Amino acid sequence: MSERLAIDGGTPVHSGPWFSVFHGSEEFAGEEKEAVLRVLAKKRVFRFLQAGAEDSEAARLEDAYRDFVGRQFALAVNGGTSALVSAVVGAGVGPGDEVIVPAYTYIATPAAVLAARAIPLICEVDSSLNLDPADLERKITPYTKAVIPVHMRGVPARMDEIMGVARRHGLLVVEDVAQANGGMYRGRMLGSIGDIGCFSLQQYKVITAGEGGMVVTDEDRFYQRCLMQHDSAVRFWRGGGGIPSFPGENYRLSELSAALALAQFGKMPSILQRLRATKARIVSQLEGVPGIQLQDVPDPEGDCGVALIFFCPSADLAKRFSAVLKAEGIPNGTVYDNTIPDRHIYRNWDYVLAKRGATPVNCPWSCGAYKGKVEYSEDMCPQSLGYLGRAVLVGLSQQMTPTHADLVVAGIRKVAEGLLR
Ligand SMILES: *Cc1c(COP(=O)(O)O)cnc(C)c1O
Repeated sequence: MSERLAIDGGTPVHSGPWFSVFHGSEEFAGEEKEAVLRVLAKKRVFRFLQAGAEDSEAARLEDAYRDFVGRQFALAVNGGTSALVSAVVGAGVGPGDEVIVPAYTYIATPAAVLAARAIPLICEVDSSLNLDPADLERKITPYTKAVIPVHMRGVPARMDEIMGVARRHGLLVVEDVAQANGGMYRGRMLGSIGDIGCFSLQQYKVITAGEGGMVVTDEDRFYQRCLMQHDSAVRFWRGGGGIPSFPGENYRLSELSAALALAQFGKMPSILQRLRATKARIVSQLEGVPGIQLQDVPDPEGDCGVALIFFCPSADLAKRFSAVLKAEGIPNGTVYDNTIPDRHIYRNWDYVLAKRGATPVNCPWSCGAYKGKVEYSEDMCPQSLGYLGRAVLVGLSQQMTPTHADLVVAGIRKVAEGLLR
């Protein structure tokens, strides 16, 4: 006999409040206050001021990321999207070129490709919910110049296979690490495997400065070009780095945000250690629960542990499972439900599917440089919709104790027994 489910009048596994969906901002304390006040006291909020240049918070944040990720160059920017645009432009990819992105990523990934006036091609994800290396290889055309693997929900993409395909076809690789700050893959930091790595410090990510981002690379030329894209006047502050100038924008990071990010950076090991311990405890108790299949994590040790994702046998059962688990007091959600326009799923990327630019010329699809042919449709990635539709996501918090981890396990086991047996 299985236990009576809460939706049928049984006692819920948990009642009362649960945890915030945020990570870094939940840890705001004295260190963050001190960091922000330090900048105010200096009266130096613009990073490229000559006076006090040796004491730039943004420069210190870059030093921290260079060491942390293990790359030659780091550039602080004002967002993850800015980081991606800088990386694509920095890599020399633009009008006439195609860039492959996964069907499951925040809409900023294809938007950044479009901002660089390149064409996004949409690729299937596999059971890891990250870029499917086999479909990546199928999607490549003579116009394809780069690929952006995204480490969604803190889970590393299959980087060995992706790098193999990319190298065989001469594609540049820009890693989108926005959701996986501090994640690893087979002993290597995410963001250090591809040609360029891009981070975000927006509030939903592992650590936050409200807004902010970072670009890392080992290539001097890419770094110099990222610098130019991130500041239309950078030559005047920093010199040209020996490459011809081109017009950039302004993605500079404020010293206030940089200081806040530095305080958060110090807390990242603790946040990740707690998240990973919670996820490992949950996963070890869910293996073999009949009816559900855990997301395939290419390197569990490198997983940031920000979310637990599992698949139900069908999309309808996933919706039902999610609702029943919610009634048990465990907040969760389905990953793809076509009643909600989730911005992480290609089907809802309205301006991409419609090939709509900012003006009726609809650049970059029809402004002349692009000689290829790209077609989008709502059903173009059935494999991705299949996995995403069957997926249920339980957000994890670094504030969860082993008791809370066990409540998640108890809830999932109870619902699986009552619903899927
Ligand atoms: C958040 C996010 C971005 C964009 O970062 P912003 O800092 O919000 O500009 C890009 N890609 C992914 C996968 C994200 O989750």
